[in-house]
Amino acid sequence: MKVKIEQKLCIACGLCREACPEGAVHPMLNNIHHWFEVLENDCTGCGECLEYCPEPGALVEYEPATA
Ligand code: SF4
Ligand code: SF4
Repeated sequence: MKVKIEQKLCIACGLCREACPEGAVHPMLNNIHHWFEVLENDCTGCGECLEYCPEPGALVEYEPATA
């Protein structure tokens, strides 16, 4: 399991970034809204960020495609 950010619901508060023990949440480059994204390769699916996100649905659990 991994976690990604649903950009339509995210308010870019940054709490998931602060909570993530893997440093997997990064600001999206070249984005004027300062939105964040989860780097799939760095996310362990620990779920820590889910505890902190104030916006229901902004963090989405998913099964990554197997390479
Ligand atoms: S599930 Fe864990 S590793 Fe993945 S983004 Fe959230 S806090 Fe970071
Ligand atoms: S905690 Fe939720 S609302 Fe805040 S930046 Fe992360 S995904 Fe967006």
